[in-house]
Amino acid sequence: MTRDFIRIGVDLGGTKIESIALNPAGETLARRRVPTPAHDYAAIINAVATLVHDIESDIGRRGAVGVGAPGSIAPHTGLVRISNTAVVNGKPLNADLAQALGRSVRIANDADCFALSEAIDGAGRGAGVVFGVILGTGVGGGLIVNGKIVEGRNRLAGEWGHTPLPWMTPDEYPGVSCFCGHSGCIETFLCGAGLSREHERRSGELLPATEVAALAEAGDPSALASLDRYQDRLARALAMIVDIIDPDAFVLGGGLSNIARLYEGLAARVGKHALIEDLDTKILPNAHGDSSGVRGAAWLWSPGETG
Ligand SMILES: [Zn+2]
Repeated sequence: MTRDFIRIGVDLGGTKIESIALNPAGETLARRRVPTPAHDYAAIINAVATLVHDIESDIGRRGAVGVGAPGSIAPHTGLVRISNTAVVNGKPLNADLAQALGRSVRIANDADCFALSEAIDGAGRGAGVVFGVILGTGVGGGLIVNGKIVEGRNRLAGEWGHTPLPWMTPDEYPGVSCFCGHSGCIETFLCGAGLSREHERRSGELLPATEVAALAEAGDPSALASLDRYQDRLARALAMIVDIIDPDAFVLGGGLSNIARLYEGLAARVGKHALIEDLDTKILPNAHGDSSGVRGAAWLWSPGETG
């Protein structure tokens, strides 16, 4: 019955595994978190299964389980690829979790889960096409159309962080090398280390991105200039998405999305780089913060589907 439908989301991160139980209205019924046994695959499966069983004991109900995890599952083999939790790569995570939990389990990329959560009942609520952007240790994205994740033929849709920074200036080209094998990826410029690198180049001081942001807030001219350059790069990267997908809204997540100054004048800058200047695109901070990933994982199931 729809009114009794319980969703359980699991966010399988590199350092912690978080779980949440949502009622049909999206209200949190229970929440739990454990450290990730990151170097032992069997222990990860066991930890997820125990977490789900514990949260089901908390609420006295069984739920439909969705899991958000880094990387993606190859369409033909069912094996995980490009996860930064290395022991999961090459493993049939979906099948193993389904067996451990005795039911079907849905798995999606963690950035896709973030975007889904924000599109359904977060900052992007009511927008038909939402592009979710993660600006953190890494840079990723997820595309949601009418409340559904667009994963793409190869399950790569939204992997915007590993395309080159558009309209590079001579001093930016070719950019630093990225773990993916290319140089000048958007991720290398827009991740936290990218802001730190820009500020070090300018000031000679290597500081974490949060400290650069705090200095800018305090009026430090050098930090303000570093943040301004970062915003210009973000604007270029978003303008490329506008020219390809033209979403109704961007929702920003990850640690750097908390820098309030980043949003000031950002839309106008995106307009300067997109094909037309007069854009009607919303660029919004996320509504659910760190909970977006785990909430999005829960939203992978709809009432009436097999749990
Ligand atoms: Zn890359």
